[in-house]
Amino acid sequence: MSGMNRTLIVGGGASGLLVAIHLAKLATRSNLVHLAEPREILGQGLAYSTDDGGHLLNVPAGRMSAFADDSEHFVRWTGRDSNYFAPRKDYGQYLIDTFEELRVASRSTTFEHIRKEVDSLNLKDGKWVARFKDGDVIEYDVVVLAMGHGKPIELASLSEIDSDKNYVSDPWRNLNVTKDGTLIGIGTGLTFIDLALSHLKRNSSNKVIGISRNGLLPEAHLPKRAQPLPVPAAAKTSPTEMRKFIDESSDWRAAQDGVRHELPDIWHSWSVELKQEFFTNHLRWWNVHRHRVSPEIQEEVSQALNSGRLTILACEIESIEKNEGSFNLKTKSGERLIADALVNCLGYSAWGKDSLLGQLIDSGLAKAAPLSLGICSDFPKFNVVDENEKPHRNLFAIGPVLLGERFETTAIPELKEQAQEVAKEVSKFVL
Ligand SMILES: Cc1cc2nc3c(=O)[nH]c(=O)nc-3n(C[C@H](O)[C@H](O)[C@H](O)COP(=O)(O)OP(=O)(O)OC[C@H]3O[C@@H](n4cnc5c(N)ncnc54)[C@H](O)[C@@H]3O)c2cc1C
Repeated sequence: MSGMNRTLIVGGGASGLLVAIHLAKLATRSNLVHLAEPREILGQGLAYSTDDGGHLLNVPAGRMSAFADDSEHFVRWTGRDSNYFAPRKDYGQYLIDTFEELRVASRSTTFEHIRKEVDSLNLKDGKWVARFKDGDVIEYDVVVLAMGHGKPIELASLSEIDSDKNYVSDPWRNLNVTKDGTLIGIGTGLTFIDLALSHLKRNSSNKVIGISRNGLLPEAHLPKRAQPLPVPAAAKTSPTEMRKFIDESSDWRAAQDGVRHELPDIWHSWSVELKQEFFTNHLRWWNVHRHRVSPEIQEEVSQALNSGRLTILACEIESIEKNEGSFNLKTKSGERLIADALVNCLGYSAWGKDSLLGQLIDSGLAKAAPLSLGICSDFPKFNVVDENEKPHRNLFAIGPVLLGERFETTAIPELKEQAQEVAKEVSKFVL
């Protein structure tokens, strides 16, 4: 194929930029790559857009390299050791620096950040026609879907207060808690920890209450990571067996790290019923153990709990009402709480019908993944398949949009490998 080929990467968060990084590393002939990303800065997406230096990565530096074949690349960039937990904002900068270096070196490929949202994609004579929200229409030879996470999970009791300025409904896209006093976080995972610690630091009289059904906080990493354990065949047969293996291992962290590495294959081999069982009975347990905080953050959380400034409650919310600048919460067990500010820390849901993925599924160009968690690819490859499971040769997907297909598909250790694989396929096609 000769002449200028056009590639579109939909989404310029960490996944999209990692694909661009690997394309820049590979590219040898004329190509134009559009990174469609409404955000001002590439690479940041949801996870790395915070400007609070206290928000740390939850993965040690030794596992955050952009390159699977150079695991120390990020460690060298930080100038620290492989067990260092860097600020998340630094990781965004690392991705940009890495991209810039390769982009300048890759003279034959032009990368353009177009600050647009892709509204729809349709096939015409083997090419993809992208329609953007601003009305522009552009034709591409190849498209990579790297749209990341969907919208935040909503709670019915929060819909009434959605527009209140002291309620943050989407902390990943609009982190704007400025009111001092008591902050209540609904959900007690990693995002809650970030918000809680920021709020406590902002003013010494601030307090935080975290509410979740299980009242569990994320587990912590040890200062030094042990080697992942091999996973016995029996542990791969069902979610219950997998959990048993992890719970009963002498080092549950090493056991879970072993499972995590093989999870896309294990997940793919499970029936829809087993996948559903995992979601219904084991997801919370998995998340608490899998998404661990750094030892440093755990120490800050312990201090906050001991001082009484941070409280965690295991309960469900019955109702929330506004009352002269504050919120009155009633729990199902009858407790009454007052908050000056509220944050939804429940996590994000899959992309809905009103999204680009919804359009691709509705038009038969993509097939909904099991449990409606994103779309299917021709596993273990990343070519998106249509409703008849026929792979598109020039449409790829990476990251959280493949949740139902791979489950373990959201963090950098997986994304860098996916990006390398996708870039290799894209460059074969377009160059
Ligand atoms: C708070 C938080 C902390 C995390 N910490 C870590 C960590 O320490 N280590 C780790 O390995 N992982 C971490 N993760 C996991 C994280 O999901 C990934 O590392 C990374 O954010 C995934 O990037 P992404 O580009 O796939 O998705 P996102 O970050 O969601 O980015 C997707 C981008 O696509 C854009 N987009 C969406 N739809 C369109 C469209 N139609 N047109 C154009 N653009 C579009 C969005 O604007 C967005 O910027 C964390 C996640 C969160 C939420």
